[in-house]
Parts: sequence; C-alpha cells; structure tokens
Amino acid sequence: MKTSLPRVVVIGCGFGGLEAVRRLSHAAVDTTLIDRTNHHLFQPLLYQVATAGLSAPAVSAPIRHILRREMRRGNLTVLQGEVTGIDVVGRRVIVAGTMPGDGADTIAYDHLIVAAGTTNSYFGHSEWARHAPGLKTLADAFVIRARVIGAFEEAERATDPAVRARWLTVAIIGGGPTGVEMAGTMTEIAQHTLRGEFRRIDPKSTRVVLIEGSERILGTFVPELSRRAREQLVRLGVDVRTGCRVTGIDADGVNLEVHDGVSARHERLEARTVIWAAGVTGVPLGRALAEATGATLDRGGRLVVEPDLSLPGHPEIAVIGDLAAALSYGDGAPKPVPGLSPSAKQMGRAAAANLLHRLRGEPTRPFRYIDYGNLATVGRKAAVVDLGVPLIGAVRFSGIPAWLFWLFAHIYFLIGFRNRLNVMLDWAWAYFTHERAARVVPQPERGAMPTGS
Ligand SMILES: Cc1cc2nc3c(=O)[nH]c(=O)nc-3n(C[C@H](O)[C@H](O)[C@H](O)COP(=O)(O)OP(=O)(O)OC[C@H]3O[C@@H](n4cnc5c(N)ncnc54)[C@H](O)[C@@H]3O)c2cc1C
Repeated sequence: MKTSLPRVVVIGCGFGGLEAVRRLSHAAVDTTLIDRTNHHLFQPLLYQVATAGLSAPAVSAPIRHILRREMRRGNLTVLQGEVTGIDVVGRRVIVAGTMPGDGADTIAYDHLIVAAGTTNSYFGHSEWARHAPGLKTLADAFVIRARVIGAFEEAERATDPAVRARWLTVAIIGGGPTGVEMAGTMTEIAQHTLRGEFRRIDPKSTRVVLIEGSERILGTFVPELSRRAREQLVRLGVDVRTGCRVTGIDADGVNLEVHDGVSARHERLEARTVIWAAGVTGVPLGRALAEATGATLDRGGRLVVEPDLSLPGHPEIAVIGDLAAALSYGDGAPKPVPGLSPSAKQMGRAAAANLLHRLRGEPTRPFRYIDYGNLATVGRKAAVVDLGVPLIGAVRFSGIPAWLFWLFAHIYFLIGFRNRLNVMLDWAWAYFTHERAARVVPQPERGAMPTGS
C-alpha cells in the first residue's frame, strides 16, 4: 500500500526493535519491520530450551501475533527475510527471501532503525564452533539440547571407561550469566532428572566444569555476589575453574592454559560436550553498515553511536540494542550501556522518540539508561540479585529469595499470557518432580542439524 507518510524500516524484532515498533505504531509514520525469523525470542530463558526444561513456544512467539493489534492500526507491515545489505546513499535495504531460490527485494526508507543484535564470537577461532555450539538462537538451543541428551545415550552405549567418562564430562566455557545458568542446570539434570533411568551408567557421576578466563565468574556483578554464586555452584557439584584460558577445542575436549597468578601451565580436559558461552560480537550486518557509513566498530563488533543513538553523519539511521556501543548520559560522566534486554528496550523507545522529534523539527535527546539491576540464576533455589532501588541504593541478596525473585521477574517479563502460563506450569511441575518438559529430541538425518520444539 502506497502512503505519503515518512517510511521507517526497523531491522530486527528482538527486545529493541519490538519496543521501537510498538512506540511508532501510534505515530503518523509507515513502518516496515523485517526479521529473518518469524518469532520474537526471550533470550534470557533460552538456556532452559537448551537444557530441555522448556519447549521453544514457551520462550518465543510469532511476531505477527505479538504485533497483531499494532498492525490493525494500518501503518505497520511485518516481513520475514534476512537483510543482507543497506544502500545508505539510495536509502534502501536489501532483503533476501527465506525460501531456497528466492531473489532479493529492496525496501526504501526515510528513517532506519537497526536492531539486529549479536552473534556468537569465537575470538578468531571459528573452527571451534562445530565442537562448542553457542547459545543465541532457537536453532542453537536445539543443537545443544540434542548434544546434552545424546551424550548420556552415548555414555550408556560406551564400553570403554575412558570413552564413557568423556561422554559424561560437560565443559561450559564462559562464566557469565549464561554459562553459570547452563552449569547449574546440567548438574540438576545429572543428579536428579535422569536418576534411575540408565542401567550401565550413573548419571550422577557426570562432571560439569565451568571454565572462566578471568579471576571470577559473573564479572559484571560486584565481587561479593560473584563469590556467593561460585559457592552456590560448587554446592550444586560444579567444578568452577577461573583463571583458565581456552587455547584449543576439538571433538574430544578442550586445551587450557591455567594461570595461578604467578605462572601458567597447560592442561587437557577430555569432554565430549562443550558449550560456548564466552562471547558475542555484532552481527555481520553491523560491519556492512560501518563500511557503508564510515561509522566505527568497537572491539565487540558494535557500532559506535552518537548520544541520540544515530550514526555519525547519518541522522536518519539509528542503531540500538546489543549492536550499539552506546553511552548513557545521566548525571556525571557518560557510562557505557550494558548489553541487556532492559537497555535494548529503553534504546528502542528512545530511538522511536528521537525519530518523531526529528520529524517535528525538534532537537533529539541524548539516551539515558535507567539501571534497575542485574540478576542471574545459578540453579535450583540458587541465584544472585543486585537491585538499584531509588532512594535506598543497592539491594543485594542471594540463595532462595534471589531465586524466587528471579523466577517471578522472568515470568513477568515474558511476552504473552500463554507463555507465562506455560512456563509457570512447567516450572511448578519440574520443582516437585525434577522432570524436564522438553526431553524428546527428534532424530536428525545423520550429519544434519537437530531441530525441535
Ligand atoms: C542466552 C542468553 C541469555 C541472556 N540472558 C539475559 C538476561 O538474563 N537478562 C538480560 O537482561 N539480558 C540477557 N541476555 C541479553 C539480551 O537477550 C540482549 O541484550 C537482547 O536480546 C538485545 O536485544 P536486541 O534487540 O539488541 O537484539 P536481539 O534480541 O538479539 O534481536 C535481534 C533480532 O534481529 C534479527 N536479525 C539479526 N540479523 C538480521 C538480519 N540480517 N536481517 C533480519 N533480521 C535480523 C534476529 O533474528 C533477532 O530477532 C541474554 C542473551 C542470551 C543470548
């Protein structure tokens, strides 16, 4: 449908893009939202899909369904396709179709909001990816789930004790929130979920090793909460290795460089299940945009943006969410904005508001991030919470109260009533039975990628 309204294109329907579109749906603009998938994904609970605790529909929802009310207002189009390039001079984006053999389309814009997020980064060792899948998309979660469940099956079949031990060793690389969550949950599966279900192996003998290069896990938390998280993990049975740098990954395990503060020694960890939770970098589209606009990419592959989230010299293009290296302009010196869902949402709102300011000929406003705190779950009845409460300051707690807080916060922020209900029921069932709702893994063709639900 042709309109004379300003044309806005939003790339990506993660936390940032979704929020921007919602804000723009009330304005006199013609918005096109493009995502390469047909769903919005609640990444904070993706590890639950990877560890068979939740099914995919519990943590994701079709974009068309989420935005059905906004679409009824008549000025929003939703398209599925991968944006492969941006012609900043001609002001159009190039979109590849989703079916094999589909050609590319171009979509013209007057204003562009890029919210395409990040992808797994292997620090220049892309060959590690096949041995150590990362966790970023539903497809990644299905791959990890198939490996985690499959490892116990392989161990049951193995006759050589060394081979069996290798299948019963899980190495999780990266001690940030995802690595910590994965490690805690793996011990739960090994010690409780699979109890009594195998004859030749004792799943309890599974070794879960969490490997972190720096001196402490959960490095974005205050040291006291890192320490408590470590204690909770150790209590659950996780072998936490800090000061341990990964120097190689192959099909049978991980090579490590272990630092003790004075010297370094090399070690080999035999493990058939290796999960990568150590780093992300901006999606390739960010690099293409940097080349096209002359914008700077930081070390994390994120685009350095102006205070109002636009690209230098391109006020018509805003970059938001994880793909933006943004600063928060509050009281005092500007501070880097963390790569979290609340910051992506806040940037989505701010970019939409600035776009409308610009259309009205008003000055744009610098982005200000409001930090409501940081939470991470460690496992069953274990979590850490660091809240910034207005007038009171920092409120920090751990253990069962933190775990309950984490549970309710995640249910509250999930998209859609059905998802909340699904998650609550699955978690309640799992709490009493230790069962995991999504353990059925379809058998992929040999060599093909596992899929699932
Ligand atoms: C496993 C995991 C756990 C996390 N846990 C937490 C947590 O507990 N708390 C928290 O606050 N944050 C957490 N985060 C971080 C949080 O999810 C991100 O900060 C947030 O998703 C960033 O939002 P975004 O909109 O920038 O990008 P995303 O949410 O990643 O969305 C990007 C969208 O762009 C689409 N896209 C990408 N490239 C293209 C293209 N070329 N063409 C079309 N579409 C494209 C993708 O399909 C996707 O839908 C977690 C992240 C992960 C991966």
